[in-house]
Amino acid sequence: VPSRLPSVGTTIFTVMSALAQEHGAVNLGQGFPDFDCDPKLVDAVTQAMQQGLNQYPPMPGVPVLREAISAKLETLYHHRYDPGTEVTVTAGATQAILTAILCCVHPGDEVIVLEPCYDSYGPNIELAGGTIVRVPLTPGSFRPDFGLIAAAITPRTRAIIVNSPHNPSATVWTAEEMQQLAALLRPTQVLLISDEVYEHMVYDGRPHVSAASIPELAERAFLVSSFGKTYHVTGWKVGFVAAPAALMAEFRKVHQFNVFTVNTPVQHALARYMADASPYLDLPAFYQRKRDLFRAGLQANTRFKLLPSEGSYFQCVDYSAIDDSVSEADFCRRLTTELWVAAIPLSPFYAGGFEQRIVRFCFAKKDETLERALERLAQL
Ligand code: PMP
Ligand code: GLN
Repeated sequence: VPSRLPSVGTTIFTVMSALAQEHGAVNLGQGFPDFDCDPKLVDAVTQAMQQGLNQYPPMPGVPVLREAISAKLETLYHHRYDPGTEVTVTAGATQAILTAILCCVHPGDEVIVLEPCYDSYGPNIELAGGTIVRVPLTPGSFRPDFGLIAAAITPRTRAIIVNSPHNPSATVWTAEEMQQLAALLRPTQVLLISDEVYEHMVYDGRPHVSAASIPELAERAFLVSSFGKTYHVTGWKVGFVAAPAALMAEFRKVHQFNVFTVNTPVQHALARYMADASPYLDLPAFYQRKRDLFRAGLQANTRFKLLPSEGSYFQCVDYSAIDDSVSEADFCRRLTTELWVAAIPLSPFYAGGFEQRIVRFCFAKKDETLERALERLAQL
């Protein structure tokens, strides 16, 4: 058949994880923890299964989980989402983002993405028949350039996708930047898809400024998050969307014919587990320590230039002092096959494959894994 996505191949995360496995490399590429989640969470899933909670849940998700999500968002971001009409549980953030795009983007609509960006956004927009409008984040700092974003808005702009904390650059938008976004969108009808999957991974005392916390943004936003990131269970593929009722009604029309709903026992387990806030409140300190361990090792023993890691579980490095002649993809291949440490090039996060000699490491790993990687990287 003629391809719906002719320019799409296999994602870089899959490619690099396969290469890492083939060569027995330490995998700091694809973003996922190599340690277990809290055993209490596993027990809660088992209990839910044993209690017979194994049939279809309601289409938008089990009420207790939607209530727990709503309560958490209200506590953290001071915006009340009605669990009945404004919260939906999804099969990870990936499905949430696709469904949000499919429910509001019509053929010919423009959707602004800020490059570099997560690799699913572009193909999702194409599947909806939308036009991708790519606006670069400022090279070097990866900060948003509101002049460029403003210039990209046209009467056909349906939505903008914003991701903070940011994959891959690890920047976190400040309150001022979020306010600038609000001011920019104020006179428009542009919707916001706010990808906040790393909401609980912010460092050095910085706050995560959610779109939910700014009323002008909340009223036009699909807020997306993922339990996979927050609770170290990326393979469970459960996330959620919160949005005003009118937007959520459209979201659910697509959701019900997309996945219909998401697995029941995991939803019950998450609802019970969320009664305790400490797992996510402790996350910044937990990951900041790993970030600092990894950065200290890189700084002491390699010629990588470290970019800031303000949030997310990523650390980007510039390798131009080591070898300026090799592309990011080739450098990652070499790291994986010769030094047995896998990383992710930044170029696939750009449509045009922009080259900056920067690669991304994921530090969501056991300390011993990070130490093993550091020993190998010291040989560079
Ligand atoms: N958005 C971003 C920015 C991500 O990094 C990821 C996970 N890699 C996702 C969305 C998808 O999240 P999930 O695994 O919950 O589908
Ligand atoms: N989001 C993860 C990353 O950036 C990967 C998820 C995936 O493989 N699709 O590494």
